[in-house]
Amino acid sequence: MRARIALLQLYRLGVLLAVAWLIRAHHTRLRVEGDRPVRVEEVAGWFTNAAGLRLDLAARGGFHVFDRDGAELGYLIRTLPQADRIIGYCGITDTLVALDREGRVLGFKIRHSEDTKTHVGDVMADRHFKQTWNGMTWEQVAGMDLKKAGVEGVSGATMTSLAVAEGIVHRFRVAQGEMRPPTMRVGVRDFGLMTVLALGAWLTFTKREGRERWRRWFQWLVIGYVGLLNGDLLAQSLLAGWAKSGMAWRMAPGLVLFAAAAFAVPWVARRPLYCQQLCPHGAAQEIVTRLAPARWRVNVPAALDRALLDFDLAGLEAFDAYLIRSAGGATIAVAIAGLLAALCVPKAYCKYGCPTGALLEFVRARGAGDKFGRRDLAAGVMLLVAFVMHWQHAAIHALIFGPAA
Ligand code: SF4
Repeated sequence: MRARIALLQLYRLGVLLAVAWLIRAHHTRLRVEGDRPVRVEEVAGWFTNAAGLRLDLAARGGFHVFDRDGAELGYLIRTLPQADRIIGYCGITDTLVALDREGRVLGFKIRHSEDTKTHVGDVMADRHFKQTWNGMTWEQVAGMDLKKAGVEGVSGATMTSLAVAEGIVHRFRVAQGEMRPPTMRVGVRDFGLMTVLALGAWLTFTKREGRERWRRWFQWLVIGYVGLLNGDLLAQSLLAGWAKSGMAWRMAPGLVLFAAAAFAVPWVARRPLYCQQLCPHGAAQEIVTRLAPARWRVNVPAALDRALLDFDLAGLEAFDAYLIRSAGGATIAVAIAGLLAALCVPKAYCKYGCPTGALLEFVRARGAGDKFGRRDLAAGVMLLVAFVMHWQHAAIHALIFGPAA
């Protein structure tokens, strides 16, 4: 029995992590490939037995090149989109740069350019210019001063060639900057959030007398400090942003810890720490319900309850409303509607409308009676479909938009 429950918990956590990984991989792919996926045939000039490319999710953001047996042959980068502000004669140029296994440049080629065709042809025909970076390491290219290095461009296609040169150096430099680990910044806000987190955890696990009274005061602190002052609510936009670009643990370690506890505590200890103690909108709804006269309370009929639970309200997130200066009208309306609903139905928004609550509930342990249900099956099937789409991305892209030029 214990093993079954543990497996179920691991499955749910695995689904969540896999979704985060897929979002990250897809986002990186879109950033790196844009609307022109790189094809393995494009690298045949450098790697004759290349059989596959694997996207690199790390800061370099290129592709590992493999042969049929899976042995790595080298590395490939594309200058777009990082170099999309570097305009040559009349447009941008997309260049591929290949590196060998030791990280030394093998050469470059223009895969697409908005510049005049004859200029592009002249650049690719200039053997001297084409060898400008050959043999250089990543650091050497990133640190290159084109003027000092005497790169003057190709006669008759000066602007196009210089744009190509600047694009290559810029691309290496941007990745070099991203590879440098930024320093961690821990500020007052992080300590504040950690204190709120510690108090919330204490209220969750303590059995001391007067707990409920303390909890009521604590709710005002959560609304005022976490919500209105900091706007640190665990919104879907925040979680999706982290999944896409990585957690902001260096810039906002307090918030990352806050989010980690929100997922870890229910997963390990079954207690919905965030929803019960730390969510400003949950606390606000509870206060509204307490202040409303008991006669206003309504029992939602079972049929309507079921219909509301089935209705997808995931796009109606209320949390940005706490950032009062920048909140849009729609999100404020959703927040107010949720509070008004709480006058009659306790935590109505939590029950029927909150995507973050649903996500936290998905990973929460539910004890011995927990079973693999329809929701788990649906999550698994959708994940499988997403994996297949990710795996077959190039084929699907070609099917919809036609083969890459
Ligand atoms: S369900 Fe949503 S609104 Fe309610 S407490 Fe949880 S996170 Fe907050």
